[in-house]
Amino acid sequence: MNSTENFTYDVFVNDPPPQDNGLLPNGEPKGGSPVASTLIYGSQDAVLTDPGFTADQADALGDWVAAKGRNLTDIFITHGHGDHWFAAGLLAEQFGARVVASAGSIAQMHVSIAARPLLWDKVYPGIPPSPVTAVTVPGNRFTLEGHDLVIVEVGHADTDDNTVLHVPDLRLVVAGDVIYNGAHLYLGESVLVGGFGPWREAIGKVEALKPRHIVAGHQNKQLDDDAGRTIAETRHYLDDADELLKTESSAVGFFNAKIERYPDHLARTVLWAGASALYGVREHPGEDVAQILVAGWL
Ligand SMILES: [Zn+2]
Repeated sequence: MNSTENFTYDVFVNDPPPQDNGLLPNGEPKGGSPVASTLIYGSQDAVLTDPGFTADQADALGDWVAAKGRNLTDIFITHGHGDHWFAAGLLAEQFGARVVASAGSIAQMHVSIAARPLLWDKVYPGIPPSPVTAVTVPGNRFTLEGHDLVIVEVGHADTDDNTVLHVPDLRLVVAGDVIYNGAHLYLGESVLVGGFGPWREAIGKVEALKPRHIVAGHQNKQLDDDAGRTIAETRHYLDDADELLKTESSAVGFFNAKIERYPDHLARTVLWAGASALYGVREHPGEDVAQILVAGWL
């Protein structure tokens, strides 16, 4: 790890919360994806990223952060999807921290709030009140004990207005949902932007930062945080998806083929939600795309 005694990071991965809304096509119960939170810290202060979305997750993460014995100044949110930030208010209150995001992410947070009753609260119990309290920082840049933390806007990856947090002094990128690590990517929203081209461009923007370490927002915590490997694997997953979209005629076929190629990847429910959207839009042209996207999760 590229760290000194006085500046480093650590990662806490919250297991997905329980859900009770039926089975996947292969008969497995549905379940979410693990959510990774990164604590970047110096000798006294700390910054936390993507604190998860249920009260239980906030409890577990809060205990872990408290045990580090640092003063939490900021909580940074990588993008608007609720699983990365609905618990931010609880953590901000516990530690007296500010919540920070890009203007684009803040706009997307409001989109997630609007979707709570239609989607999030239907699938996951235990999401706390989630007012949008995030603020922007000048030049998308803030500091931790003199070290730069740079918010890099990379455009559309798994949703609109994704960002990553670049920590040059650690050669670290906290990549949110731009780079994944041992978990299925959420492909659904690619239907809004005509495919995976924008996501590939976003990956290129991360690669251009020349990180050594990448913390993926959704990951198998048994795996390391090697930047080269996680970038290559995320690209490969998208290439595979493009290939399977040509050869598989149904969402179930796509789902099964992906599992065959990625038997150890976590979060098959995320794979299914994406496949449902990709084929739902193909099979029902002219229907409301937002409704198709939501239906993939229910
Ligand atoms: Zn996510």
